[in-house]
Amino acid sequence: MGTTVAIRGPDWKPTLEDPEIQRYLFEEVGEEGMELARYLQENEPISGVDVLEHYSERKPSEVRKVLYRLMEAHAAEYEKDTDKAGWETFTWRMDLDEVGLILRRRWADELTHLQKQLKFEEDHEYYACDSLHRRMVFEDAMDIGFHCPVCQEPMQPLDNQQVLESLRERISELEPYVTA
Ligand SMILES: [Zn+2]
Repeated sequence: MGTTVAIRGPDWKPTLEDPEIQRYLFEEVGEEGMELARYLQENEPISGVDVLEHYSERKPSEVRKVLYRLMEAHAAEYEKDTDKAGWETFTWRMDLDEVGLILRRRWADELTHLQKQLKFEEDHEYYACDSLHRRMVFEDAMDIGFHCPVCQEPMQPLDNQQVLESLRERISELEPYVTA
């Protein structure tokens, strides 16, 4: 069923230490971004200038790119201001609340998807050859005379209890945390 996200309760406060948050950030911003996220969190609020200084061995444009990637992933934000000399200043902070909401929306989407899939599985009979080359619904199997398109062996009705069970299991996991 692919990679499923571990569900978090209603009082969940997303943190960088949370494996689900780490997985999200890793997908969105990579290892470099996660390292910068940790640095921001330990030093926030921090000015953009100070961030660039901390990473002075890297090109400023590269560091900025990572900062903006964190922002686009809704994990970091900045406040723009103007100092006495008239220069624009940027103050960066981590904020993972939005990421928490994004993961909650993912659970909701997953639940909707699984419920549809469950309904479809319940309403259909599946067929396959003994080697399970192709799993297909009755109508599709009938179209090809119940002969497996891979090995030409006859296709038989399949027991989909295990599929149904694993779908129901994940649905019952998700439901309490996803309110429609
Ligand atoms: Zn086959």
